[in-house]
Amino acid sequence: MNIVVIGAQWGDEGKGKIVDYLAGDAQIIVRFSGGANAGHTIVLKDEQFALHLVPSGVLYPDKIVILGTGMVIDPEALHAELSMLESRGINWQGRVFISDRAHIVLPKYRQIDKEMEEKRNKPIGTTGRGIGIAYGLKAFRDGIRLADVFEDERLVNLDAEDRAFIAHWKDWLKQFPINLVDYLDKHRHAYVLFEGAQGALLDIDTGTYPFVSSGMSCAAGAAAQGGIGPRSIDKVLGVFKAYTTRVGNGPFPTEFNPENQGALEDYIRKTGREYGVTTGRPRRCGYLDLVALRYACRVNSIDTLVLTHLDVYDTLPSFEACIAYKIDGKLIEHFPSSIYELEHAEPVLRKFKGWECELKGRSSYDELPIEAKDYISFIEEYTETSIDMISIGYERNETIVRKSPWIR
Ligand code: GDP
Repeated sequence: MNIVVIGAQWGDEGKGKIVDYLAGDAQIIVRFSGGANAGHTIVLKDEQFALHLVPSGVLYPDKIVILGTGMVIDPEALHAELSMLESRGINWQGRVFISDRAHIVLPKYRQIDKEMEEKRNKPIGTTGRGIGIAYGLKAFRDGIRLADVFEDERLVNLDAEDRAFIAHWKDWLKQFPINLVDYLDKHRHAYVLFEGAQGALLDIDTGTYPFVSSGMSCAAGAAAQGGIGPRSIDKVLGVFKAYTTRVGNGPFPTEFNPENQGALEDYIRKTGREYGVTTGRPRRCGYLDLVALRYACRVNSIDTLVLTHLDVYDTLPSFEACIAYKIDGKLIEHFPSSIYELEHAEPVLRKFKGWECELKGRSSYDELPIEAKDYISFIEEYTETSIDMISIGYERNETIVRKSPWIR
């Protein structure tokens, strides 16, 4: 069975925790896109693990984890991450593989990334790790894939510095390559999780272009870049927070206004620990944008939503969610492509009553306060999508499952 887990907002929805939770029942976890610019935080028995490249299932001792075709991989960053895991008792040898079609990030890309960002009159807010350049060169057909590392002929156009870098990592990289398509075909009866990076609104095609990542973070990416065909996807899960966050620049219609919502933003940032895993940058925060969430559900065929960070609202007497936009005086109920429209969209907000009690310790949907259930029902109706899992804390066991995604 093949389940795809993607972010349904602008990333940082808590995919890492959800994939880690679901990985308990999976045999193989494939991350299909992104590079070391993404980051997941997983909390395990008071220990916090920040992962950037390695799929979340790695913390289980027996799971196979695969870096998929759509990923762009800096060998130095991968080595550092695997060494960190090893030093903390996670034995990864023999169960971490890389699609031999995945691309390599070379040191020069970082410099080019920074130079391009400086030239933009409106910076995108890239992490400067050369990820966008790797994707760009891939599209130009000048990239280097893992398979190419072992074929000297493919390296002749590289400059001396890049060739020396590859020569340095070549032997170490020999332990990882697999033909992902063949591997998954051989394991076609396994339970496989496909983990997306970033979120649907940061996808190169479906996101808020140009303020997006350079890779595919939509569900279709699992097929194109995860080694299976689209009809082999059994289920798509969209992870979203009770509110919205965004890192970097770009339109964000429900972003809190510092003048009158500054205290609320500070509270959510502090309670939800909304600081980037990779960069440490404070994340921009705002109310849940249901217009954007419904769009994400439609464009990704999301079968079921996973609501996270519901506990962050525990102490609020009331809160709001955006159900439409007003753009130049007109009521808009769809998610626009125009950056001008998104930047000028005023959110039309619906108010919800808070539950004003701790959700921690509740283990079933029935134990949730009526106000939390009302919020959940409203989101389900608005998006026409069921919410089968609810996360009420960062620990693995702080997860309420209404229906296991592994049940067809
Ligand atoms: P990802 O990139 O989507 O995996 O998200 P991140 O790992 O960047 O951010 C999610 C953060 O929220 C991590 O620090 C998680 O430990 C934490 N987290 C995940 N789910 C919950 C939740 O339900 N409640 C709270 N309070 N924190 C959560």
